Amino acid sequence: MTISGLQAYIRNKDHNPDNKIGYFYKLIEEVGELSEMIRNNSRAEETGTIKGTIEEELCDVLYYTVALANVYQIDLEERFRQKEELNKIKWGK
Ligand SMILES: [Mg+2]
Repeated sequence: MTISGLQAYIRNKDHNPDNKIGYFYKLIEEVGELSEMIRNNSRAEETGTIKGTIEEELCDVLYYTVALANVYQIDLEERFRQKEELNKIKWGK
């Protein structure tokens, strides 16, 4: 799945432009859960499930990042390319 494909998928199942702050709060909540999983070094390969792992929480963080991008009608694929150009200038790579 491409980034554009992921944006379309999430837009179709969960898109509420009036819920900007709700998506943002969920993103922060999921970052907190990711922090806990990193601290526990909980990995899907070891637990045999994605539940309660770094893998699960990275997906949750990605989900709400994309949901927010959709609310602001941001083309993440294009903006990521532009940001990489800025990074090349800033960091030389
Ligand atoms: Mg989560």
